[in-house]
Amino acid sequence: MVKNINEFHTLLIDKKITITDLVNHYLENIKNKNTEINAYREVFDDALSIAKEYDKQLENKTSDEIKEFLKTKKLFGVPVALKDNILIKGKRAGASSKVLENYIASYDSTVVKKLRDQGAIFLGRTNMDEFAMGGSTENSAYGVTKNPLNLEYVAGGSSGGSAAVISSDMSLVSLGSDTGGSIRQPASYNGIYALKPTYGSVSRHGLMAMASSFDVIGPFAKDMDDVCKVFDIIKGVDELDSTTHDVNMIFSAKDKLRVGIPREFIFTDGVSDEVKKSIENTIERLKQKGVEVVDISIPLLKESLAIYYILVPAEVSSNMSRYDGIRYGKNIDTKNGIEDYLQTRGQLLGPEVKRRIILGTYILSAGYHDAYYKKAGILRENLRQDIKNKLKDVDVIMTPTTPDTSFKIGEKITNTLSLYLADIFTVTANLVGMPAISVPYKDDKGENSTANDLPLGIQLMADTDKEDTLFSIAKML
Ligand code: GLN
Repeated sequence: MVKNINEFHTLLIDKKITITDLVNHYLENIKNKNTEINAYREVFDDALSIAKEYDKQLENKTSDEIKEFLKTKKLFGVPVALKDNILIKGKRAGASSKVLENYIASYDSTVVKKLRDQGAIFLGRTNMDEFAMGGSTENSAYGVTKNPLNLEYVAGGSSGGSAAVISSDMSLVSLGSDTGGSIRQPASYNGIYALKPTYGSVSRHGLMAMASSFDVIGPFAKDMDDVCKVFDIIKGVDELDSTTHDVNMIFSAKDKLRVGIPREFIFTDGVSDEVKKSIENTIERLKQKGVEVVDISIPLLKESLAIYYILVPAEVSSNMSRYDGIRYGKNIDTKNGIEDYLQTRGQLLGPEVKRRIILGTYILSAGYHDAYYKKAGILRENLRQDIKNKLKDVDVIMTPTTPDTSFKIGEKITNTLSLYLADIFTVTANLVGMPAISVPYKDDKGENSTANDLPLGIQLMADTDKEDTLFSIAKML
């Protein structure tokens, strides 16, 4: 119906569309498609009435007045879908876990407040891997989200629902969270744009924690400008999250952009030929646009996945301790305190969550803490330094987003390691706190050029707070 926020607002100014029209368009699509795709866990029943109320606010305004008004309400009437781990006061939020089945949020997350202040309308909450652990939404307690581009394939994860609502035209924009790739990987599998912002640039207040030193909220859209716009609104210091800071985006034209390619990391077994080709083609495309492309070497990159899967379960095991059946959500009542705790966690948490709790508890235990957690922490810092140094020579580091296209539902679920391997290119940005964007790849004919006709993504990573550079280069692609 509309291709981006800008077009929607231009139509609003010209009075050629109403907010109700747009919301109805998405609600209609949800009605027709969601049962099959399973991207939304819940559609909010107040979206339409809010749309009508917002239309009323514009009713007596002239086009010029609307134009002025929209400068102060940058997302006025824009439908937004939220991942099921982001809180809206008074609404259910469950992180797609049985343990939070009846949980109702008692406060607004900061991102929700900021979006609402700008006039956004929340359409519903989207399916995800339980507590954001996974890469296919197959770990959701409420079934997998199918890839709208081919229903036999996964939409990716953990923010699979937030990506699928965009590619299936069930929302204009959406938010997800990214701990190790959960925004970029599903964006790549769905052929859309999405940003994992710099750690601490977006408040985590009201986001259910997975791994606190990795987590960040970010936007999905079909249009790059929308991703940029939404990021601009949700970013910034928040007194309720002490890890936040301000990011200035300055879009000044640089005379010479340099892109670094960690060739030895990309051109290896385990990365599909189609993916390698997408990188070669993109390199050519960038060169034609006058971008300098250079090979770089960061030997520690190969260890990213190993470092990630030590540190993340450690943080997960600590964060998950709050789901004890006493504080939040469901409780299995056995009339015995300890037994309640065992039954609640035993019955209501899924296998991947338990796997990480066990792994993390082991990693943090007295005898192994130094051997695993401490060592991984040191390597994380070394990796950050190495990348920081390289980013003095190049503006961004380019890799594929994933080693292959999406995979068939059920294909990897019994092989945990193969699923973890799909994160090989994305986890680094979270380890080092830097921003990264996934841009859909198309060949020169504008096609996917993959055997299964599913999309691929190109990932760009820049230094801390350099989202503006990412947007500039992404635009060239
Ligand atoms: N797939 C990765 C994992 O399972 C990333 C998850 C995420 O970013 N939330 O840890």
